[in-house]
Amino acid sequence: MPITCDCLIIGGGIAGIGLAAHLGAERSTVILEMEDAPGRHATGRSAAIFIRNYGNATLRALNGASVEVLSGGGGFAETGFLSPRGELVVAKADEMERFSAYLQGADGLEEIPVAEARRLFPILSDDHVAAAHEAGAADIDVDRLLQAYLRAARHAGSRLVTSARVSAISRKGDVWRVEAGGETYEAPVLVNAAGAWADTVAGLAGLPPLGIQPYRRSAAILPAPEGMDVSSWPAVVSASEAWYAKPEAGKLLVSPADEDPLEPQDAWPDDMVLAEGLDRFEKATTVSVTRVERSWAGLRSFAPDRTPVAGFSDRADGFLWLAGQGGYGIQTSPALSRLAADLILGRTPALAPAVVAALDPGRFNSYG
Ligand SMILES: Cc1cc2nc3c(=O)[nH]c(=O)nc-3n(C[C@H](O)[C@H](O)[C@H](O)COP(=O)(O)OP(=O)(O)OC[C@H]3O[C@@H](n4cnc5c(N)ncnc54)[C@H](O)[C@@H]3O)c2cc1C
Repeated sequence: MPITCDCLIIGGGIAGIGLAAHLGAERSTVILEMEDAPGRHATGRSAAIFIRNYGNATLRALNGASVEVLSGGGGFAETGFLSPRGELVVAKADEMERFSAYLQGADGLEEIPVAEARRLFPILSDDHVAAAHEAGAADIDVDRLLQAYLRAARHAGSRLVTSARVSAISRKGDVWRVEAGGETYEAPVLVNAAGAWADTVAGLAGLPPLGIQPYRRSAAILPAPEGMDVSSWPAVVSASEAWYAKPEAGKLLVSPADEDPLEPQDAWPDDMVLAEGLDRFEKATTVSVTRVERSWAGLRSFAPDRTPVAGFSDRADGFLWLAGQGGYGIQTSPALSRLAADLILGRTPALAPAVVAALDPGRFNSYG
């Protein structure tokens, strides 16, 4: 006998679990996750930063609309998920064009003297010519956010089924039929929250891909520079996004800000890419990297216009895309989850109509 529910969500990352939390008890929901625990892929590998001015205008609208829940206002936890960090954008002479573009239309990002940037981040090399500071940037407690969403979803009656890889999808009358982990599930609404595998899942359902491309992003943990307490340093990104760094439990997380296209997979860092990125970090600071304590990589998956895809397909009834969150999927999860829930529940979206339209999968010509 098939297991039936109102809404089947494929993917137990922040997108799928965030949606289940926002759907609440109004729909019976099952989340299908192929790994043996939630958050194993992109969600568990992020740099865990909230930066309001990160991304294009649509993303900045989503970032802004997510602050309330991230600050604890959504009823998912008694305290918020953000802690103050701040972010510096720093530029050498050849990065000034990118620096000016980053500042364009930014909210709460102030240009500051380079000397002030060096006071905040004492290892900045002296060939930097410009800096800006976003005081509101914050660390996100990703694990606590994921667990809070999961608790809310379970409290509302949702089920998370792990070790359940979706292997076949068909449409029978008004319902989607899905094979996963030796069971058959049926629901009128099917949500594709499969991260790097979003186009693969669409293919199983007989739908054309949207061109959602996974790109590898790596990170390394370095010991704190000799004799320095890094704990109050801001996150720092080069204006050309050639590297970024942030304190992480008394050490320094450094990313080469790599973006190599890969097939969906369990990603690992490439030694050469990591070494080249650490070299760029060394050239932008007064630090010599002598030891990497650990490193990892994850996939950031982008639609062709680098804007997330959230909305019902116009090719198949009841098929909702919630994918392509790129490097913003944690910080935008409240707004995207809420939008997906609004669409499923037939409510007027809380987001502005222009933002909803910019996220709609129908925007891709090849998709009709
Ligand atoms: C190094 C790095 C740094 C980042 N830093 C930040 C940051 O600072 N701030 C920020 O907001 N974002 C950041 N991101 C981006 C963020 O992590 C992602 O946008 C977000 O996690 C995407 O969530 P998701 O749920 O869509 O994907 P995922 O977490 O990948 O979840 C998708 C899930 O679908 C499952 N799945 C796939 N196919 C199937 C199937 N057939 N059957 C069942 N299950 C399936 C997978 O196992 C996976 O668990 C970063 C990402 C990386 C890699």
